[in-house]
Amino acid sequence: MSRFPKTTCVLAVSLAISLQGRGREIPSPAVAEAEAIYADLADSYGVISTIDSGLFRTYQGKDRAAWERVYAEKRKQLADELSRTSASGLSPLDARALDVMNRHVRDDFPEQFKDESAPPEHCQDAQHQNLSMSSLEGALYACFTELGNSLEFEGQRVTRVSALGMLEEMSEETRRKKLFNAFEPLWNAVDGEHDAASPYRRLLPLVVSAADGQGTTIDSAARTIGVSSEEVEHWLEQILDTWRQVEGGEMVEPWNYFYRGGEATRLLSAVTQKDSFVAVNQRYYRDLGADLRQLGVLYDLEARPGKAPLAYTDYVTRGRLVDGKWRPTVVRISGSYATGGLGLLNELVHENGHAAHMMAIHVRPAFMDLGDALFVEAFADVPSWNTFEPEWQRKYLGQAAPEAVSLRGLFSGVMLDVAWALFECRMLHTPAADPNAVWTEITSRYLHIVRHPELSWWAIRVQLVQMPGYMVNYGLGAVLTADLRQHTREALGPIEAGNAQWFSWTSEHLLRFGEELDTSTLLKQFLGRRVSPRALLDQIRRITPKQ
Ligand SMILES: [Zn+2]
Repeated sequence: MSRFPKTTCVLAVSLAISLQGRGREIPSPAVAEAEAIYADLADSYGVISTIDSGLFRTYQGKDRAAWERVYAEKRKQLADELSRTSASGLSPLDARALDVMNRHVRDDFPEQFKDESAPPEHCQDAQHQNLSMSSLEGALYACFTELGNSLEFEGQRVTRVSALGMLEEMSEETRRKKLFNAFEPLWNAVDGEHDAASPYRRLLPLVVSAADGQGTTIDSAARTIGVSSEEVEHWLEQILDTWRQVEGGEMVEPWNYFYRGGEATRLLSAVTQKDSFVAVNQRYYRDLGADLRQLGVLYDLEARPGKAPLAYTDYVTRGRLVDGKWRPTVVRISGSYATGGLGLLNELVHENGHAAHMMAIHVRPAFMDLGDALFVEAFADVPSWNTFEPEWQRKYLGQAAPEAVSLRGLFSGVMLDVAWALFECRMLHTPAADPNAVWTEITSRYLHIVRHPELSWWAIRVQLVQMPGYMVNYGLGAVLTADLRQHTREALGPIEAGNAQWFSWTSEHLLRFGEELDTSTLLKQFLGRRVSPRALLDQIRRITPKQ
């Protein structure tokens, strides 16, 4: 994933800004002044976050305290500048720049710098009643760091991410069951006694009332692709139902679900060692026309205590014109790769997709950000889904799993995301519902997973508690990924094993705009039509039914 404020683009402004006019317009002096300060503010934020992540201790000779002073000063200057600048009389593009900056200042750049990857709360705080939404989210996020990064299994500590990889690979069912049950302290921290007082069930009504008037993350994702929230829910059901039919009817215990989808991972385990991840990524992206090394992507991939419990990609500093010359964006990727495996390799390819996206944005400072979360997550999967294509595996790993086996691996993971998205749709509709019952109904019906309503095993994704509703960006994101991939293939030919035009063509037509265009306009323009679930359904049907 890439981290986003939960409110990003909730109020997407639908300005029809023609592409022809872009770049030629000179910003009004007041807006240009604000943008220069804004760029400094965003950079100081990126640098402090990077220092807090542990990647480096100083940047350009300044330590954290010095950067925090820069942040506070720029934040104040910008607030003053923005309050002095009125949108009346501005060109549409300047007005949009002003609007975007105001939104980010409000949502992402608090007066006092706040380290979002290290909330002040602890996991046990989640037991306190009457917490605010953000404190409860922070406490539950801390549970994933404190408990999820330290699951006890066979006398050792394993991270949640590693455990999910191990569940695909361990051949003894008794060990799989034991490892699955090692998640129990995390589930119990999130869902307490499975009653109305459980931290998660206290969180949902807070999320729903915070979204009052502006809509939830799900409404915002629906807007991004130009459909209603009801239609989103219908699509998710349609996708899961297609999978249900293609996949066959054999029921499986939840601790065996990952193993069943993990055959390709097992077949390829010898050629997906973690030491090879960065080199494979560099080679693949070079073949896509993006030289990650030349782009200067920074990697922080070793597991260490206290590290963020999920992989993410973020800006260090954003590209901008300095004395008439473009100073490129600097991005960093954080992950914890204690083990190898196809799933984790896929994840790193996804993170590099975010990095390529960030590097491709080439606009004025106000617009140097990614756009709606749904689009951002979906786009990062455009290159990463290829890791499950036999042609990709042959070229980059030296051997391939059979096509149906690989696709089953890809889509059993994607279908869990779709199931979580549907879970969140239903939970946000009916916050008083029992999450175990909702999850059991979805997973038994569509994924053929044996019912275990006594277990809160849905609680294995950080996003569910850190920003409820966010999973739609993965579940519905799969629709967009498949659609973007199909459209790209139609324009460029095969992309499964690299395509030298991919990065420049995609940058030119899709990525470079940043927030200059709102995402729904951008997608309509890129695809030339509305987003459709057809491409994803076709991909799922590539898996032949089991005889
Ligand atoms: Zn991502």
